[in-house]
Amino acid sequence: MSTNYVKLIEELNNPHVHMSDITKVNNLICSIVAGGKNNLQMIFDFDRTMTKLNEQTNTHVSSFELLRHCPSISPKYLKAEQEYIDNYCPIEYNRAISDEEKKALLEKLWMDFAESLKGEPVSYEEILETATKVEPTLRDGTEKLLADLNKTNIPVLVVSGGYGDSIEAIFKHFGVLYPNVNIISNFFCFDNGVIQGLKNSFIINSRNKNDLWSMQPDYLNLIMDRSNIVVVGDSIGDAGVADGIPNVKNILKIGFKCKRTNETLSDFLKVFDVVIEDSHTLNVIQGIVKHIFE
Ligand SMILES: [Mg+2]
Repeated sequence: MSTNYVKLIEELNNPHVHMSDITKVNNLICSIVAGGKNNLQMIFDFDRTMTKLNEQTNTHVSSFELLRHCPSISPKYLKAEQEYIDNYCPIEYNRAISDEEKKALLEKLWMDFAESLKGEPVSYEEILETATKVEPTLRDGTEKLLADLNKTNIPVLVVSGGYGDSIEAIFKHFGVLYPNVNIISNFFCFDNGVIQGLKNSFIINSRNKNDLWSMQPDYLNLIMDRSNIVVVGDSIGDAGVADGIPNVKNILKIGFKCKRTNETLSDFLKVFDVVIEDSHTLNVIQGIVKHIFE
């Protein structure tokens, strides 16, 4: 008889952890544990997935917002950023707009906004320095989990629609930019301490993450023998991030549901296998993957 991991893993038995199909979750964990560490890869979203919301205000400085804290940023950029945010939220959190429509609208919005980055006198070093000053917070347990995944050579991919340079800076600040960590996100193109725009023409947003794989042959090559994936995110769009990866056998999708989204628990349970509400830790993930380390 196979192990009842859902019962065994204490962290899955908290009232803030939900599953729509317990048997499916157990079968996925059984297959992933049986596959072992050499068959596993992990894919994380960054903001509000690896980072913590402020427990009092329910806010945090995102990888996107970190740029506005750089002392050299111009008022012109700040104005464009505010306009972007004002336009972004009514699309992302509007239940009347279909997923496909959202994707197209957000791509266009990002594309227009990216123009405002050009000429901003912010260097990579300034971003590194700012990351140490804004007091970013990782979820409790993130440093330990990343250290364990590094020790066991399990590839960790962070896919984010924020700014890749900010994520890199925050990881460096916490000393967790291990060799097994890769970041696919929107990186700046710098020239002499001035941002020239974004490096890639495909801009990642919260809804188009599963479209990026045809542009990532090197990463696909790196993980081609790893057919089991644990996906962790906090947006509905994060759940499908691994859907375009070839030769996958098992994907366990874990979602953090924060209070601020308009989506309901049942919306989350439609796309994630495990949904965690209002948690500031990565304990559930650690509770599952520790069985793979053994
Ligand atoms: Mg997020």
